[in-house]
Amino acid sequence: MAIYVTHGIVEQRSAEAFADRNMLDVEAFAQHLLYRASRYVPLEQAQRGAGDALTVDDSTVAAADACRVARDLKHDVTFFINPANIVEERTYFFARLDAALDRSEAAGAVHSELRAFRRTVKAQLLSQATDANLDRIVDAALAELCVPAPDVPKSLCTISVEVLRDLVDRGVSIANHGWSHVDPANLSGAEFQTHVTRAAEWIAEIAGRVPTAYGVPFGETPLPLEKERAAGVDWFLADDSLPGDRHGAHGWNRRTLVIEDAA
Ligand SMILES: [Zn+2]
Repeated sequence: MAIYVTHGIVEQRSAEAFADRNMLDVEAFAQHLLYRASRYVPLEQAQRGAGDALTVDDSTVAAADACRVARDLKHDVTFFINPANIVEERTYFFARLDAALDRSEAAGAVHSELRAFRRTVKAQLLSQATDANLDRIVDAALAELCVPAPDVPKSLCTISVEVLRDLVDRGVSIANHGWSHVDPANLSGAEFQTHVTRAAEWIAEIAGRVPTAYGVPFGETPLPLEKERAAGVDWFLADDSLPGDRHGAHGWNRRTLVIEDAA
């Protein structure tokens, strides 16, 4: 049993592009799904040890595309979404950051230095509890890069409710990635409760069923017992540096799905 995570697929993925750093190549992904020895199974089934599951994180176009291709090729897939971005038609902070980094590189900045810069910014992002703070940090980073309003590629744009409804109709299982993409480590008990239940209620309305899985935003912070109880469902990390698949009774880790780009 293994549970895999990806953040989506893009045409002609560029291995160097920041915008594509968490993405898979469309062609390579389709080939992988076509020729895999066994189909991906529903998440709950993988949790019982009967097969591997595929999960996709964040409410972006690239993520929705991956879910659609998976269903077209008869695989089960679970989509961890942030309703806030969809409802507020808000571009993810990381989409703006990665678009600006690519713009800087095109303007002559050194890739390794931009990578170091991104790590510094990410460390700041990981200690924030509100969307406003995340946006503020990214705004400051964009100002420093001299790209205050980057063109976000289509792949990293946020999906609409209509797109999400279409995915539900296609049999994509919708799961909870929190109301918005803030690290739960920085939320109080009450804030965390809102973060989880507000998203769960919204998803139940759209998908017709209450999500039974919570994907921890940023995927790196195991839930303490108090928050595990508040979540009331199994929770999932996405941390390749962690050994093993389990974290106590209700915690699971996921592995990044790695596929070589198509030739
Ligand atoms: Zn995420």
